[in-house]
Amino acid sequence: MRTPRRRYLTLMAALLLAPTVAPGLANANGPFVPPGQETVNRSSMLSAEQISAELRSLAARSKGALRVEEIGRSGQGRPLEVAYIGTGSTRVWIQGRIHGNEPYGAEASLDFLKTLVSGGKHARDVLKEISFAIIPLYNPDGSEAFRRQDSINNIDLNRDWGVDRRMFDQLNAVRVSLGQAPLPERNFTNYTRHRAVESQAFWYAWANFKPHHMIDLHHQGTYYVGDTDEMTTFSVGISLDPGMLTTDQWNTVRRMGVVAADAAGKSGVVNVTRYPYINIPEGVTSASMLNGPGPQGEYANWRSNAMFFESRGGIGQKSSGYIIKQNVNGLWAIIDAMSDRSLASVDADRWSNIPPRGAAITTCDKFPNQCDF
Ligand SMILES: [Zn+2]
Repeated sequence: MRTPRRRYLTLMAALLLAPTVAPGLANANGPFVPPGQETVNRSSMLSAEQISAELRSLAARSKGALRVEEIGRSGQGRPLEVAYIGTGSTRVWIQGRIHGNEPYGAEASLDFLKTLVSGGKHARDVLKEISFAIIPLYNPDGSEAFRRQDSINNIDLNRDWGVDRRMFDQLNAVRVSLGQAPLPERNFTNYTRHRAVESQAFWYAWANFKPHHMIDLHHQGTYYVGDTDEMTTFSVGISLDPGMLTTDQWNTVRRMGVVAADAAGKSGVVNVTRYPYINIPEGVTSASMLNGPGPQGEYANWRSNAMFFESRGGIGQKSSGYIIKQNVNGLWAIIDAMSDRSLASVDADRWSNIPPRGAAITTCDKFPNQCDF
């Protein structure tokens, strides 16, 4: 039980220690922390500059194995960086923090990268099989402002990749098959999105690298596991209706989700769920799966197999350790299954057995130990 005195002390500690985020800002466009919990302790999160410095330091230690490339600049002029490592023929893209107020994708991808750079046998074996493009920080401006969107256009960068006529028609066909109204007609002559410079730079990096697989690291609000009293800490998700995907893609992305869920759930404190249905062709993982057009309407003629992780919100110093760890475990599980070629034999239908994400938890009272910022 949380006593009133403890609540007061916790509140005072939070006020004294934490740089505050304006109430409501952190909740813009989707739940991130439950209402009343908008004060987030950001001291446990790396800044854009620290992430950049860590990448450079890892590259220096790697004896040439890791190459950090600045592929462009953000709207406010911060470097957009991709870390390339590995010599294998399977190409994997990992990205974090496309939403600036969803921090630990950066820490998790750096932790993962650190092991790859370590030179151990496991890392060497994996790097012979797989080449990586790792982006710890997709949205540096939004991260510095601790907001979801970019800072120039004020748009969600995960709704800013190209959608063409074909993708739009496909989306409407799926909507009609589900009994939903089709979206209104629009002019798709040379239609592209990529309004933000970040979207443009990362689309070209994706088109050059042509990843077979992508994993995108996010945070969500705080939710129950299905209709239980448990809180979910980690969800795995797919950003498209299966009707938008080839059979092979649908099987592969579900297998990635299944092995990540198995691995993340093993740590004991992690409750894994399946993210609810969404169908967003303009998202990065989605457009990459659909051969979405580039900023000038050009095509990479490529389809990735992409899925995403969602860590719980209500983050703070006490929970940052296991939140980062569950992401790292999920990443390694997928990578190991690719590296030892076991992924193809995973039962994709086990995807449906992962418990669904339940209702939002809107109060700290139920889980006082978890409301730790
Ligand atoms: Zn997100």
